[in-house]
Amino acid sequence: MRSRYLIIGLAVALVAVTTVLIVTARSGDSTASGGDLTVTNTVVVPDGDTSSSDTPSSDTPSSSSDQSSSAAPTTGTDGRPASNVPMTKLAPGEKPPQFIIFSFDGAGSEIKWPIFMDAAKQVNARFTGFLSGIYLIGDSGKNAGVYTGPGHPTGAASIGYGGTEQSIINEVNNLNRAYSEGHEIGTHYNGHFCAGAEPSGDQWSTADWNSELDQFFQFMSDWKTLNNYTDVPDLQVPTTEVKGGRTPCLEGQWDQLVPAWKAHDMTYDSSMPAPYSGIAWPEKKDGIWEFYMPTVYSPGFEGSVMAMDYNFWFKFNQAQNEPETAPELRQIVKGTYDFMYDQAYHGNRAPVLIANHFNVWNGDSFNPPALDFMMEKCTQPDTYCATYQDVIAWMEMQDPAVLEQILNQAPVAASAP
Ligand SMILES: [Zn+2]
Repeated sequence: MRSRYLIIGLAVALVAVTTVLIVTARSGDSTASGGDLTVTNTVVVPDGDTSSSDTPSSDTPSSSSDQSSSAAPTTGTDGRPASNVPMTKLAPGEKPPQFIIFSFDGAGSEIKWPIFMDAAKQVNARFTGFLSGIYLIGDSGKNAGVYTGPGHPTGAASIGYGGTEQSIINEVNNLNRAYSEGHEIGTHYNGHFCAGAEPSGDQWSTADWNSELDQFFQFMSDWKTLNNYTDVPDLQVPTTEVKGGRTPCLEGQWDQLVPAWKAHDMTYDSSMPAPYSGIAWPEKKDGIWEFYMPTVYSPGFEGSVMAMDYNFWFKFNQAQNEPETAPELRQIVKGTYDFMYDQAYHGNRAPVLIANHFNVWNGDSFNPPALDFMMEKCTQPDTYCATYQDVIAWMEMQDPAVLEQILNQAPVAASAP
């Protein structure tokens, strides 16, 4: 399938999409260049899976929320706040906390980063940004050919690079702020090669994934020299803090990925479509915690959908850009999130994954419901909006027998109540 559509906001980006698979999120990411026009970054790439430029959002969090958490997190040795998850062992049969894990693929948007960080601060939430590594590579590094995607010509990518030096500085500042406030940085890899831009993740070998991850970590460590920047701030997110990620378009073969993850000291992944319907606890498989991307029942759709922004969009109107439908779609998405939460909260207490990009797809149909959900639910009793790593730490401190009982509970939210 091939369709082309024009996204018109404050800026215009042309996005060409090929071979859309419903269960495979084809996900473009915002570029780090925020509101910049990124046409040159998008149309040159056949897969064009990218960058609708951000437009200012009116959905800023209410500052008058009376649910602001008064919890003053203690400070860890590195100056970061301590985990917002109560690290206590459950007794056998005791209900686990309800975790909600927000993640944003790409994690490059000058507009969206502060909106979600400000909101999170109000409700004591933490979230995870899955960074596309080339958002740390600016025009100079791009022109110098510092990135070669596995099987692709040097410089090629399906998303835009990071843009100007100022855009890179802004991205670094946002990453630093996020990390310092207890949010987590993971990887969304680099070139975002998906079906239609082969070889894509589904075809990559372990060696290919190793190359992709080597480059991701090199970009984090050496972005200054690769870009030939001299007077810029340090990136204060240690590479050792990146422990997992989400593959572009959820592509990749498990047996090829696992050795590459282990070679890079990673402990979790959140890319694999769940092999069951509904929401269940993560599974530790081959030494990796897999937080499956769930397919759930959606009251608004009166049917099943994979709970990820792009997949909602595809289910709604085959991912056509129809901004006038945004109010309706936002309501469906929010209703689906609420249903997921209610079913989990009153059921197996499996972590609810809210998987978004920072994109403004379909008139910004997806970030506003995620934001509303964050503001409403993160202060509910026994509910913790946490990072992947903090949820893993909580699971791993439980008594093995207690944990096994928790993990083995049947999925919820698979069908209409
Ligand atoms: Zn993506």
